[in-house]
Amino acid sequence: MKDYLSLTCEEVSKLDREKTVFVSVVSPTETHGRHLPLGTDVFIARRVMEETCQILKKDHEVVKLFEIPLGSDAQPVFGSIWLSYGTFKRLIFEIGSHLAKMNFKHWIIFDNHGGPRHQLALAEASKKLKEKYGFNLVVPFLHIFQDMLNDLEEIKIPAGMNGDAKDLHAGTNETSLMLHVDSSMVRTKDLPRYFPSRETFLGKLLRFLKAESLAVTVDWISDQQNPYYLGDPSLADPGRGKKMIEYHVKKSVELFEEAKRGTYRPPKLFNPIVKLLLKLAK
Ligand SMILES: [Zn+2]
Repeated sequence: MKDYLSLTCEEVSKLDREKTVFVSVVSPTETHGRHLPLGTDVFIARRVMEETCQILKKDHEVVKLFEIPLGSDAQPVFGSIWLSYGTFKRLIFEIGSHLAKMNFKHWIIFDNHGGPRHQLALAEASKKLKEKYGFNLVVPFLHIFQDMLNDLEEIKIPAGMNGDAKDLHAGTNETSLMLHVDSSMVRTKDLPRYFPSRETFLGKLLRFLKAESLAVTVDWISDQQNPYYLGDPSLADPGRGKKMIEYHVKKSVELFEEAKRGTYRPPKLFNPIVKLLLKLAK
């Protein structure tokens, strides 16, 4: 795997445009309870990227672009560092534009963050890069997150433990992932299950609009008792983390194959009313 920053411009100019794929980790610095590190999403995405590249490098020139430990809609609490939706979308679009103008065709972003405007920014940047330059920005986690919310059987992890709406953040799924990726970074998993007990007005409205995970997120971050996680860390185990990484890798390879065939498109994430609400929200 080549490192973009270590190459000269001449070496970059000689890269085979059909065979080269850029890869990056892009995921925010975010508070994950008191038991997981701020870089949890970054560490998980790094592992997925490494394993995916082991497969891709057999037939491609893989070039590692710089890592960006930032994104939008991190949990707005002490410790998190994030960008606004507009700033983040522009950042990704402008970097992609530079790659496209050098006639490259593929960039895969590895991520593990389900923040609504984070995902919207990535999906919209991907769509815009395709429309303007025919460039493929593939973001596997946009698809994987939808699969988690839908409790897809193929993931092979039961509902409530697979990062769905009952396990959204630093619960069973993410604690399991970190136990697999680097157990020395998990401070404890001896924590009670948490789920917001009160439904807010906005939460109810979002449920009415069929945006369940968003409704849960709003109720959660509005809760005075928010322990900075949502789910059940005590059920975490490294075997589940391994299974989830395997699913990420498999899906990443499949989506990249779609991009090569020219059929890759980011998923439609929200209905138009919810999208408008997200863009209006502070
Ligand atoms: Zn996370």
